[in-house]
Amino acid sequence: MHRLGIAAKLYLAFGSIFLLAVVASSVGWKGFLQIAESQNSVIDQAIPGLRQAHRLSALNASIGAAAQQLLRANNELERIEISSELFSQVNLVHALLDDFQQKEFSVGSLKSLRETVRKIERKLHQQDELVRKRNHQQAHFNQLASGLITATDELNELADSLVANAAATSTAITSSLYDLVKNNASKQQLYKVFDRIVEVDLDAMERMYELRLRSSILTGLFNQVAKESDLAALNFLRQRTSETLSILKRRVSEINDPKRRENAAQLLNLMEVDNGPLYIYGIFESRISLMEINQALSTLSVETGEASRALNGIVNELNATGGALINQVSTTAKQSLDTSRRWFGFISVILLIVAAAILWGFIKRNVIRRLLSLESATRAITDGNYNVHIIVEGHDELTAMGKALRGFRNNAIDNRKLDNELRKHKAHLEELVEERSEQLRETNEMLLEEAQNHALAREKAEQANQAKTAFLATMSHELRTPLSGALGTLRLLSDTPLQTHQSDYVHIINAANTTLLDIVNDILGYSQLEAGKLKIVNRPFDLSELLDNVIGIMRVSVREKHNSLQLVMNDALSHWLMGDSGKLHQILINLIGNANKFTDNGSITLQVSSLLSEANNNVSLHFSVEDSGIGIAKNKQAEIFQAFTQVDTSSARRYGGIGLGLAICDRLVDAMGGKISLDSELGTGTTIGFNLEIALCDSVPITQQPAVLPLTVVNGIDVLMVEDDAINSMVTSNYLEHLGYRVTAAQTGEEALKFLNVVKPSLVLLDISLPGIDGLTILKHIRANADSLISNMPVIAMSAHVFTEEVDRYLKAGMNDFLGKPFSIENLEHAIAKVSSGGSSNDVTIANARDSKSKPQLNPKTFEPSVVDGDIDRIGLDQVVKIVDLYFKTSHRRKDELLEAIAQEDFDRVKTAAHQLNGSASNFGFEHLCAILSELEVVAIDGKEIPATLAIQFEKAFSGATAALNLYMAGQVTPRSQVQSFS
Ligand code: ADP
Repeated sequence: MHRLGIAAKLYLAFGSIFLLAVVASSVGWKGFLQIAESQNSVIDQAIPGLRQAHRLSALNASIGAAAQQLLRANNELERIEISSELFSQVNLVHALLDDFQQKEFSVGSLKSLRETVRKIERKLHQQDELVRKRNHQQAHFNQLASGLITATDELNELADSLVANAAATSTAITSSLYDLVKNNASKQQLYKVFDRIVEVDLDAMERMYELRLRSSILTGLFNQVAKESDLAALNFLRQRTSETLSILKRRVSEINDPKRRENAAQLLNLMEVDNGPLYIYGIFESRISLMEINQALSTLSVETGEASRALNGIVNELNATGGALINQVSTTAKQSLDTSRRWFGFISVILLIVAAAILWGFIKRNVIRRLLSLESATRAITDGNYNVHIIVEGHDELTAMGKALRGFRNNAIDNRKLDNELRKHKAHLEELVEERSEQLRETNEMLLEEAQNHALAREKAEQANQAKTAFLATMSHELRTPLSGALGTLRLLSDTPLQTHQSDYVHIINAANTTLLDIVNDILGYSQLEAGKLKIVNRPFDLSELLDNVIGIMRVSVREKHNSLQLVMNDALSHWLMGDSGKLHQILINLIGNANKFTDNGSITLQVSSLLSEANNNVSLHFSVEDSGIGIAKNKQAEIFQAFTQVDTSSARRYGGIGLGLAICDRLVDAMGGKISLDSELGTGTTIGFNLEIALCDSVPITQQPAVLPLTVVNGIDVLMVEDDAINSMVTSNYLEHLGYRVTAAQTGEEALKFLNVVKPSLVLLDISLPGIDGLTILKHIRANADSLISNMPVIAMSAHVFTEEVDRYLKAGMNDFLGKPFSIENLEHAIAKVSSGGSSNDVTIANARDSKSKPQLNPKTFEPSVVDGDIDRIGLDQVVKIVDLYFKTSHRRKDELLEAIAQEDFDRVKTAAHQLNGSASNFGFEHLCAILSELEVVAIDGKEIPATLAIQFEKAFSGATAALNLYMAGQVTPRSQVQSFS
């Protein structure tokens, strides 16, 4: 026991308690089983038996009552009904007895019960039979009696008539006496008559009276027989009947009338026929028989009653047996309960004593006392009182706990010592931290001040930078126009007869001017990037076409420096892509330009390769421009992508440039999600490359037929623009100037033909719908010109009619390309680049940045500011202000003209005015107004009646659009003027 662990001891203690509890429960369980058994026997045996005994008793009473009813049944129908009810109850009794057989306690009584019931049943059958006979006999008696009464009634009637006859005869004879007296008859005669009256007539009358009397007596006798139940009295009545019958017979034989006599004698004879229908003694026999039956019935009834009482006696015995059984069972159950209770109490007391002994003697001494000691020791240690005695005795878990606690106490004593030392150290550290914090606080304040000064300085620097950017943008934009003009003039000058030195001067001025224009373009581009105006415009483009175009543009200048230029590209890359082709074009031109600039008599290679396989409908392309030029020193390579940085400042003098090209390229590549890289060896050459992730284009733009005519490259800067609408003319001129071209604008066909020979432009932009000579006629003149430079000149058609058939028609007529109105500067640039590179007219410029203006809109806007916004970005606010002014000046007049034409139903004028106004309005994003004007134009072309609502809508849309544009421009002009005032 000493060696057992605490857990084993606890298991042992609680196991003993559990064992005792099991014993107590078993005793209780056994007691309950006995009680349940007793209850079951009561429930299964006694109670159903008693219930059946009661039922039997009730049935017996009911059978007794029915037997009495049967006795009273005096017709067959009633008897049968009562008898069947009676015997069905008897059957129920039999069934009940069959059921009784299953109950143990009723076995003894059952035999006598069965015998008694059978006896009762037998008696009842006899009683039923007697009742049946009685009823039959009664019917027979009634039948005889009624027949006899009828016969005596007949005799009565006969006697009555005979009496009446005798009376009448004697009356008639007596009356004859009066006649005799009146006729003085003799006394003899009178006495004779008197004798006859006395001896014959009165005698006859007297006998007939007796006949009647006797027959009445007979009837009275019959009635008495029916009521009589005494045998002697019946015999007396029979004797009287016999006497009366013989007297009647005598009197009948004395009836004078032979017929009546015979009838009466026949009746009386019938009464004496044995067993005949009028057998007079039959009623006595029948009556005696009835009396005997009734006597037998009353004897039977008494016997049945006795049997029924005997049955009740047995049933009562049964009830007594059942009751005794229940009492016996209850007593047994009570005894079982008492025994169980005594045992249960006894074992519970033992259980309590044992449990208390275990708890007190073992758990308290071995577990609780030691746990309490450990608990108080733990509490003391927790409170910091380590000077405490810890009991460590025995060999169980509590011993281990005591040892652990003692170890813990010893550790705590050591920790306390350590803690004191740490506290001292901490106090010292806190002093040090305080000191250092003070120093840091002072430093922070200084830093904060410094940061504020820095922020102020940065803000000023940013303002200065913005001012610089604005200045550069404005300056370069303003410089570009006169420079373009100067270049154009120089070109004109070089075409005039010049002396050699003059020609050299012109060449020098031209070169200087070109350099200056390049610098200005770079500054403008860079300042736009700095001002955050860089927008990536993705649209479908053909990569091969773009690269061909780049090579085509650079070929002349490359050749001038005796360099070779080649394109290395996998054919598999000739895809339609979705990206900003303009920016890609610009980067490649710049890089090839640099390569050409820093290479002499060498080679330049533009290489395009696919880095990764096509995935997610994207292609990863690597572009590189490699040259065999002067190369860049390693230590300079990191700087050259910074703005205004060149490897060697002297190179600016030798090669031109101001160090912006690569900075622009870097930013453009970055904006398109790529990264530019440099690989160069001084004296060997340079490779500058970049990666771009570009989406593949799902659908290729409208396929057009190949151009009919060979195309000429646009080499010059003069462009002849033929446009009758002043606003469109102004917008397109601005676009062209912005792209670096010199514009000669003609408003009519006649003017255009005049300018053609004077200006000798490099390109013609030709509006199709013109007053007078139209665009296609002018084209014919151009193609038919004797000067091949003019006849081969690229001509781009402009029209708002963009249906495929019409575009086809223009291209077949010899146009090199087509621009759907309204078009953006990018569309124009793209079209010019295309005809410049000799590209085909497959990609006709119909869809453009201003699609919203050319396509029917689902919810057209009154004013789409992004359109004007885009123009401000590209051609500058000043130009846009001028264009808008012109629109305000002209549009009201055109509106009035259109309304007048509508009012007069002049369809031709409506068509023209709507078309013109639509052309102007489409430049400002008036989607709703343009939609209405297009509808008006269509209605006018169809020659239909113009709905009044359409005119009202037009007026509303017009004033709404004008007001919106006015408001927008008012918001634009103010901030811009601040920048300008700075410059
Ligand atoms: P720049 O207008 O001066 O050409 P860039 O930004 O284009 O300005 O180029 C910066 C400098 O990088 C150039 O001045 C030149 O010194 C050097 N550089 C650029 N491309 C090449 C190249 N292909 N070969 C040698 N040096 C180059």
